[in-house]
Amino acid sequence: MKKSSIIILLGPPGSGKGTQANLLAEQFDLYHLETSKIIEQRIMNAKEGDFVEVEGEKYSFEKEKELWKSGVLCSPPFVSYLIKEKIKNLAKEEKGIVFSGSPRTLHEGKEVIPLIKELYGAENIMVLQISLPAEASIFRNSHRRICQLMRHPVLWSEETEGLTLCPLDGSKLLKREGLDDPETIKTRLEEYKERTYPLVDYFKEEKVTINEIKGEQAVEEVFHDILKGVGFEPKSSLEPKK
Ligand SMILES: [Zn+2]
Repeated sequence: MKKSSIIILLGPPGSGKGTQANLLAEQFDLYHLETSKIIEQRIMNAKEGDFVEVEGEKYSFEKEKELWKSGVLCSPPFVSYLIKEKIKNLAKEEKGIVFSGSPRTLHEGKEVIPLIKELYGAENIMVLQISLPAEASIFRNSHRRICQLMRHPVLWSEETEGLTLCPLDGSKLLKREGLDDPETIKTRLEEYKERTYPLVDYFKEEKVTINEIKGEQAVEEVFHDILKGVGFEPKSSLEPKK
């Protein structure tokens, strides 16, 4: 039986992996799994006293909520638990998944990869690494804007350069303070490298195929290359190659 596919997008800040994941989700009816959204949903809907138990250790939602609110990363075993729970539910519905920005760490990878191999089959996992030179990442991020009304992020690209209003709600586009300073972005890039290199090595050990995609192109061109990378012929047909 042909099961649904798993696509994992890796890429530094500014590589546009979120946008690409949305396009893929829409095109192939995949669930776009974002770790941050899953944490938020589960934390906001938790009742008083709720907890998860991982290897004999209890993690209370209240405590994790405090960490999350103060901007500190939640406990890795707690996060992995929530992600795996979501993956199991999606697998029951035979729903394919596109991951953007997760697994984020080697710890998460080691938890998630064996599970999706078991549920979806190793041959149905595709990892795409969107590369972007550091200078391009810094430029794109420091030119990122958000809209006044809903804080929609607008990443810099040739297509968005001339925009003055949010394409979604028409409110003014503003620069974010602090978060998009070149120094902050450099730190985020370093963190990305430190976290991702061991993860990529792990994927290779696990014999998961990794394709590199050049992220310095227009959104459309990156998407075209991604479609090729996952074995779809973009121009002719969107049916999977048999
Ligand atoms: Zn907006």
